[in-house]
Amino acid sequence: MKVCPYCGHANYDFAHICRKCETSLVGAPGTVYRTTRKYLIGPERARSLRHRALSLIVLGLLMMVYWGGRGPWPTIDHPTLLAIRAWLEPLLLLGGAALYLLGWILRSV
Ligand SMILES: [Zn+2]
Repeated sequence: MKVCPYCGHANYDFAHICRKCETSLVGAPGTVYRTTRKYLIGPERARSLRHRALSLIVLGLLMMVYWGGRGPWPTIDHPTLLAIRAWLEPLLLLGGAALYLLGWILRSV
């Protein structure tokens, strides 16, 4: 397996260019690789976006379990906190899912 230095995709041993981002995989050690394709944000930034989106989803799930009464803990039912949780929980879960999808789409656009 040849791992692409630009996007991290695992390619076949006999590959000369990356299947995912078309970066050249042959060259002298220490060569700076550059992709031949023009990306909107590039695979690395798209991956970073997906990682942040997953963090938001995990935060939303933690909020659901620890604060939302879905765990074995007593629910915090102060009206102000309930009002905050009512919009913050869907924002984190749905926003994280939408952001992950966006990062997944933008990785190859
Ligand atoms: Zn690549």
